Amino acid sequence: PSFSDYLREHIRTVPDWPAPGVQFRDITPLLQDPKVFRILIDAFVHRYMDHDRRPDVVAGLDARGFILGAVVAYELGVGFVPIRKKGKLPFTTVEETYELEYGSATVELHTDSVHAGSRVLLMDDLIATGGTMMAGKKLLEKLGAQVVEGASIVDLPELGGSTRLRAAGLDLYTLVDFA
Ligand code: 5GP
Repeated sequence: PSFSDYLREHIRTVPDWPAPGVQFRDITPLLQDPKVFRILIDAFVHRYMDHDRRPDVVAGLDARGFILGAVVAYELGVGFVPIRKKGKLPFTTVEETYELEYGSATVELHTDSVHAGSRVLLMDDLIATGGTMMAGKKLLEKLGAQVVEGASIVDLPELGGSTRLRAAGLDLYTLVDFA
């Protein structure tokens, strides 16, 4: 199978979770298998260790973006910064609120987490509507950083998020699509 198919085989689809009608793409089986976990992380590391793509820092989106982002940052030899749901970060923050299907969500970033001009790789596990990654991009830009690329394991192209993010000027790297 292709690399994409190989990863797809290790993603579990859970029907009607967290709400009726939602097909949740559960990436925990990818992390659980040591060989698959390594191959997955290496795909990101090999892309971003290239001189022209190497970031100064990796930012991870709460919460599965922490798992991927921290390991990729460690392997690249750069720092990691968490973008958290509101109320979790203790120091001064910038915040960004975005709309969800029902209601809204707010994410925060420590004001001293990146320097102006830093080149940041922004990571999460999955792109659906793109709202979460867009909010992360805006937070990093509020601090003067430049998001060089957004990366995730999964894209759900039918939800339009990746198209919207690219239209907003964010280059994206994703490994698996689900139609
Ligand atoms: P978006 O903001 O693009 O609509 O939703 C993406 C965010 O919600 C990501 O942080 C992701 O972790 C989470 N998410 C939404 N749907 C799923 C899903 O089916 N599987 C996983 N693993 N995460 C999801």
